[in-house]
Amino acid sequence: MDSKQKANTIEADGDFMPHDLQPDRFAFLHVDLNSFFASVEQQLHPEYRNRPLAVVPTMVDTTCCIAASYEAKALGIKTGTQVGEAKRICPQIVLVMGEHGVYADYSQRIAVAVERCCPVSHTPSIDEMVCQLMGREQEPLRARQIALAIKQAIKDDVGESLRCSIGMAPNRFLAKIASDMQKPDGLIGLLPSQLPRAIAHLELRDLPGVGSRTEVRLNAKGIHTMPQLLALDRTQMHALWNSVWGDRLYHWLRGDETGDDGAMADSAVQKSLGHSHVMAPRYRTPEGAWAVAHKLLHKASMRLRMERLTASSMSVTIRYALTREQAEHRSKSKKHFSGLRHAGWGMEARFSPCQDTLTLLQALRGMWAQQPQEAEFARPFHVAVTMHNLIVENDLQASLFADPDHRADLATAMDTLNKKYGNTTLHFAGMLPAKESAPTRISFTQIPVKYGVDYM
Ligand SMILES: [Mg+2]
Repeated sequence: MDSKQKANTIEADGDFMPHDLQPDRFAFLHVDLNSFFASVEQQLHPEYRNRPLAVVPTMVDTTCCIAASYEAKALGIKTGTQVGEAKRICPQIVLVMGEHGVYADYSQRIAVAVERCCPVSHTPSIDEMVCQLMGREQEPLRARQIALAIKQAIKDDVGESLRCSIGMAPNRFLAKIASDMQKPDGLIGLLPSQLPRAIAHLELRDLPGVGSRTEVRLNAKGIHTMPQLLALDRTQMHALWNSVWGDRLYHWLRGDETGDDGAMADSAVQKSLGHSHVMAPRYRTPEGAWAVAHKLLHKASMRLRMERLTASSMSVTIRYALTREQAEHRSKSKKHFSGLRHAGWGMEARFSPCQDTLTLLQALRGMWAQQPQEAEFARPFHVAVTMHNLIVENDLQASLFADPDHRADLATAMDTLNKKYGNTTLHFAGMLPAKESAPTRISFTQIPVKYGVDYM
């Protein structure tokens, strides 16, 4: 989009102030493993490569395939196809009993390979990883180099059968869409200057969060195609969804970031750095969630220091799986894209600008202790830790750093060791009690849980 077109857009929208032309940059890179379970089986068993293969939960014809190889997909066999039907389509199909532990192990190895190229900030599921790009990484050519390096690292470190499609975009929503646009082994970048026309050819169902029920609802309101959806202004989008989700979608589809209220956030300046993780079922305990939160914080604060940024507030959000009875009791429960009914909780802490792990960990512990204690908050499955109000270190005066016990020096020393020997070399487990004697002033604010990111 050139500047003249941009000016027209602003006039046409009319509902927000003109802003600077958004630079062409990518803020997120979404890695989606292609036919993940089937590809792991083909990696483990070379004799299965280049053959139609389906992963099944049990060896009976009445059950459904939980994954299909690309060779099987070419014949029309996909996730959800009944095994009897798959055999009818392709009598020679290889059927393999799924082993979740093996796939979880491969997922972990792939994450390590990706992290050789760029830190992973979000793991929405076992076969998806998201990297938040920062600084020069956001330049399109550099982002593309990172994406190609990720593909190579997965091949080299984990196996040649494991291919992935990578999407690059100015926000997480579009990065996920881009990762779906070319399979297998795809690489698609959606630049702000090409939006929204670069996604106008998609189906409504290609949008994360638009399932069959939503599609029916949109159709009933006269929206059948992407061009029809893209022709709506923000007010109409809000009315269509009857919620702030419509406002968010309006901006996301145009390459913008939004705040919790759905209003456009200035994305020219990096304001937040978020890390999140969907936990494997066996880790869905309070202890498991704390271990995950601790690790996310460790990674986020290391990233802050790498980019020479400080944060002056941090939020934590947790989603808890509900039992069926609990979900029926809670009219406000939400449905996660995985189908889990869940309750959510979130809190924000404010403090003096800092970037050291000890101060941030102290804030995280303070918030963590205030989680609701009721039974429905017992099975956490998703944890997110986000640093807000980021400021470039140089913009701050040295006096702003109240650092009586050299926390910044300690953090820098730890980063050096962790970079050299791997991210988990140094943790803080035993170090915290001694430091509690010099607490930083931290105030906590209850914030609403951001359901908007559910669909990623
Ligand atoms: Mg996938």
